[in-house]
Amino acid sequence: MKYALVDGIKTEAVKGVKGFCSSCGSELIAKCGEQKINHWAHKGNRNCDPWWEPETEWHRSWKKNYIIGCQEVVLTDEKTGEKHIADVRTEHGLVIEFQHSHIRSEERISRERYYKNMVWVVDGTRLKRDYPRFLKGREEFRSTEKKSIYRVDFPDEVFPKNWLKSYVPIIFDFKGLEMTNDDDIRNNLFCLLPVRKGEIMLVAEFSREAFIRTTTNGE
Ligand SMILES: [Zn+2]
Repeated sequence: MKYALVDGIKTEAVKGVKGFCSSCGSELIAKCGEQKINHWAHKGNRNCDPWWEPETEWHRSWKKNYIIGCQEVVLTDEKTGEKHIADVRTEHGLVIEFQHSHIRSEERISRERYYKNMVWVVDGTRLKRDYPRFLKGREEFRSTEKKSIYRVDFPDEVFPKNWLKSYVPIIFDFKGLEMTNDDDIRNNLFCLLPVRKGEIMLVAEFSREAFIRTTTNGE
């Protein structure tokens, strides 16, 4: 995790400092090495949140666009007491989960049911084939009445299959941490909307800045 509680304050990992998990309260160890980014770990490296995944630079580069109070927010289901740590929860209650690794569909569904008001931001650079496939599929996007919203007739030829049945918007980030020219389409995000008509789906294109701005101010 990026943050632990040190004297009750969300603090990033610093060597030798003792922190506590804001979810389960157990002691956390600051891991500051060269192999992985600085983070806090539970003893025995078992996270109290089974949904937690090791973070990459990509996760961190996204999270830092939001204020500290909105990062790694512990949410508790009032009925069951089930707790999870959302990557980001905006002040308007939108959960944003940044997903780098592969996720099994059962887990994806569980998280969508748990958080309800959420979107996924998916690292589109993890698999080499994903961006070339998207680029090719994009040639077949059809315009709609709305600007920057496109109709996709064969989404399974454009996007990774495991995201197509989602109940919430999926935002693909094909740029990741790569350097791109100003006119590179990877500077924009592509959002698969959870609206289907048979196989047909809709995709919205917007800039990263627009996404961060609208999620922050609640638009
Ligand atoms: Zn914990």
